[in-house]
Amino acid sequence: MELIDGNQIAATLVAELKAQVAAIPGRRPCLALVRVGEDAASVSYVKKKEKTAAEIGIESRIILPPVTIPQAELEKLIDDLNADPAVDGILVQSPLPKPLNEQAVFSRIAPQKDVDGFHTVNIGKIAQEDSTGFVACTPAGIMELLARSGTDLAGKHVVVLGRSLIVGKPVGLLALQKKAGANATVTFCHSGTRDLPSITRLADVLIAAIGRAEFVTGDMIKPDAVVIDVGINRVSDPSKKSGYKLVGDVHFDSVAPLATKITPVPGGVGPMTVCMLMKNTVKAWTLGRSSTA
Ligand code: NDP
Repeated sequence: MELIDGNQIAATLVAELKAQVAAIPGRRPCLALVRVGEDAASVSYVKKKEKTAAEIGIESRIILPPVTIPQAELEKLIDDLNADPAVDGILVQSPLPKPLNEQAVFSRIAPQKDVDGFHTVNIGKIAQEDSTGFVACTPAGIMELLARSGTDLAGKHVVVLGRSLIVGKPVGLLALQKKAGANATVTFCHSGTRDLPSITRLADVLIAAIGRAEFVTGDMIKPDAVVIDVGINRVSDPSKKSGYKLVGDVHFDSVAPLATKITPVPGGVGPMTVCMLMKNTVKAWTLGRSSTA
């Protein structure tokens, strides 16, 4: 069994992006990070994004509207960032506090600056196999992990557990694309799927993104499968100072001995997500430069 080391692959990617940014003269890429309110997890996610951006040479512009900001004002703020030629990418940290309409805000972002890949146009471009769009960071990170760990999906049966718009659906569509590294046969499973283990046992590559702690157990796996665990679940652990530990959607101890390759949690898919945001920002900057050249 080989562990797919997300931290190491992410570090390589950061170094590559840093070299790419340093090689092009002129204005640095700029990422606007909009965080509404003081939700503790959002504060820490935005800090991490700011830190990784700085490491690569991406300028970040942090915008912190108050939790009381009306929908119309937040949308006006997005309009201003859309119109600002010095801003390449815009990210609005999710979740937005109630009663703000998150999807309306995401869709307000100009598709060419939508580095989180949540705009309907960018989701549609995945289905159209149009590579000028932005793929949401977690599915993009999963594809990068698979490619960089030498897992060619061509002709393989990929089973995706979960059909959310930010992970399950896009990653399944990416695996299905008729292009190098993909070209898989894809099955999607969800809470309405009957006899789930009979389907997961057919998977050459199993991608688990359901948000249920250690749900996938060894008896649900085909021997020699590649297993990608997207889940991030907090479970109580009195031995830890924090009182909890993070586990994935896969029961690592029973699945790992059967798998040829597996991602750990933490240290698998997680570190890739922020990197792919940076990769998308550099792509937006590059596309913007070529359209104004
Ligand atoms: P959602 O809650 O949006 O979607 C979960 C999906 O799993 C749904 O499609 C749901 O089915 C399906 N599901 C739930 N329970 C079952 C079950 N018992 N059997 C079969 N299918 C089931 O979650 P996300 O896609 O946003 O996230 C999934 C996991 O990935 C979470 O643990 C999340 O924390 C993690 N995550 C990790 C990221 C990272 O950077 N590593 C980034 C984003 C998410 P239905 O559609 O029928 O309701």
